[in-house]
Amino acid sequence: MTDCSGILEYLQNIGNSQSEFERRALEALREPIESGQIRIARAGQRIEFPARFQLVAAMNPCPCGYLGEARCRCTPDQIMRYRNKLSGPLLDRIDLMIEVPAPDEAELSARAAGESSATVRARVARARERQLDRQGKTNAHLSVDEIDRHCPLDEAAAALLKQAMARLKLSARAYHRILKVSRSIADLTGNTQISTPHIAEAIHYRRGFW
Ligand SMILES: [Zn+2]
Repeated sequence: MTDCSGILEYLQNIGNSQSEFERRALEALREPIESGQIRIARAGQRIEFPARFQLVAAMNPCPCGYLGEARCRCTPDQIMRYRNKLSGPLLDRIDLMIEVPAPDEAELSARAAGESSATVRARVARARERQLDRQGKTNAHLSVDEIDRHCPLDEAAAALLKQAMARLKLSARAYHRILKVSRSIADLTGNTQISTPHIAEAIHYRRGFW
């Protein structure tokens, strides 16, 4: 049974909250991220609410946000306390972690040369269609049995994942999540088979800056 009092209290106090989440509010997300449900138990009553959501979050590398620059005055202890707000089990449930360095002046003034949002949107829509045609649901919602069925790896990709599991000391949960992300990366490129570049990219997203 999950105690969601942390997140409920946070939501009740959202009007006067600080800019950052308390650790217990963040920890309360662990169960709904995994199960897609919030279970609340109070005075002998137990209620379940649907809570399937996509978590998108951002944080600074240190409390002041200028880590690595002369103007950062954070002590190693402050940085450690700040990062410890996110527990290992919570990080384990986050599939894509990307470090975004501050752009320099030249980058800010240059025109963006990337693809348009419409092009990317069309690619994502095609990838979702592939998933629904293949398995009747998106990759994010595959069970462990379904992952075995729909995310087979070729020999080289399987060897790379095995190596990463040992070297990065990844959990069983991380293993299954990497398979689902690599399935999505293969779907985005129109590949039916998951191969080494797809697995390598999925592993890369999991490493973050920790
Ligand atoms: Zn700092």
